[in-house]
Amino acid sequence: MRLLIAEDDPQLGDGLTVGLRQAGYAVDWVKDGVAADLALLNESYDLLVLDLGLPRLDGLAVLSRLRGRGQTLPVLILTARDATGDKIAGLDSGADDYLIKPIDIDELAARVRALTRRSVGRAQPLLSLGDLVIDPAAHQVTLAGMPVELSVREFSLLQLLVENAGRVMTRAQIEDSLYGWRDEPDSNALEVHIHHLRKKIGTERIKTLRGIGYMVPK
Ligand code: CA
Repeated sequence: MRLLIAEDDPQLGDGLTVGLRQAGYAVDWVKDGVAADLALLNESYDLLVLDLGLPRLDGLAVLSRLRGRGQTLPVLILTARDATGDKIAGLDSGADDYLIKPIDIDELAARVRALTRRSVGRAQPLLSLGDLVIDPAAHQVTLAGMPVELSVREFSLLQLLVENAGRVMTRAQIEDSLYGWRDEPDSNALEVHIHHLRKKIGTERIKTLRGIGYMVPK
């Protein structure tokens, strides 16, 4: 999953970026509202973490432009402790949740999981397909009850494919979801991850559609 963070405070922005990357997300970080608006226009994200007090274009304006274009990705706003009005205005402008600064990274990661889960139409915290069970919170996978060791990338890739089970995911869609701006993939990185995943969960579970992409059959 790929997230955008819009936060002008360098320390906080850096902390959020590092923390969410460690939680397995591809993260892009922009430091003003105009950059956020452009990124949202040009890239596809699964969630936006939006500071309301941003230079050049404030967070509420970014949010109303986003919703005005019909973009439905979940938005989590960050507000100052005393800014109750901001929080209400943000929720009324189409934000899905809010956190009050100072931000606790574990709480943020939990809210991100809940919001992205709901946005793919899944109320259950566990994802399962036959005897394969994925626990996004614990970052664990089991196959017929036995734990499967996956790297962070393999885990994200498997989660993406299983969330879209029965649908073909193109190479571009997968790379968009797995990689942020700062870590462009090698040309064969995806094949390598797929190869490793197949060795760990069974070759037949991931189908290759030559020249198109990959699919996990339902
Ligand atoms: Ca700010």
